[in-house]
Amino acid sequence: MGKAIITLTIIHEFKLDVESFLFKMCYLPSRKVIRDFMVSQALLEKAKEFHGHICPFVVLGLRASEIALKKLGLTKAGERETVGEEILAIVECNNCFTDGVQVATGCTLGNNSLIYLDTGKNAVTIVRRRDWRGIRVYIDSEKLREKYFKKEAMKLFEKVVVKREGAAEDHEKLSNLWAEIGREMMNIPESEFKIEEVKVKEIERAPIFESVRCGMCSELVMKTRIEYVGGKAVCLACLGKSNAVIGRGIVLNFEYPIVKKEN
Ligand SMILES: [Zn+2]
Ligand SMILES: [Zn+2]
Repeated sequence: MGKAIITLTIIHEFKLDVESFLFKMCYLPSRKVIRDFMVSQALLEKAKEFHGHICPFVVLGLRASEIALKKLGLTKAGERETVGEEILAIVECNNCFTDGVQVATGCTLGNNSLIYLDTGKNAVTIVRRRDWRGIRVYIDSEKLREKYFKKEAMKLFEKVVVKREGAAEDHEKLSNLWAEIGREMMNIPESEFKIEEVKVKEIERAPIFESVRCGMCSELVMKTRIEYVGGKAVCLACLGKSNAVIGRGIVLNFEYPIVKKEN
């Protein structure tokens, strides 16, 4: 009770809105209010487990997703939503941000509730299949970098990641700084995101196709991925090419990279 009164007094005195107030409190040296995370500590831990590390963009993915879910009155997709593909998360990049989206929304590549548009933007749209109303959240990484990323971290990033130089201690220092910036992103105010109400054109539910056996390797293949060569069913692996999602995005006719040992 006492704490609430103090909090309100401070808001009044500094004429801050609640959101920027909470944000600023996290930057106070004492960091006593750090538990007022907008992204919870539990979610951050899940993200670390899934993504392997804490970084600014995985946290921004969590935060962007939570903003969109909240505005739609939704929570993370559970059993009913994932089985029925009732909630879709449409991402426009395949970087750390997208892992944050998968952890926060429960929409993943495997449950067909994650749609990947290869536009190369840090954006997520959460949409309800019921009415195709959605919220798109975009982040301007240039703006955020200037405002929140420490100069030291940017310098190290240039050295370690871009130029691939730097000793082991530089790597460690960078990963610590990166995680620190990531933690600060948990509280980033909504005003730092571009948030739009959108209408999404209907997207089909994942169809179920029968399987056809490849005439060369005898493995079963989804019917739509078989090609007929001289009347014989052949899979794309045996033909040596398939479309692929790699770091740079979707690559058409990517050379099948798996080389099997000769018997
Ligand atoms: Zn990351
Ligand atoms: Zn085959």
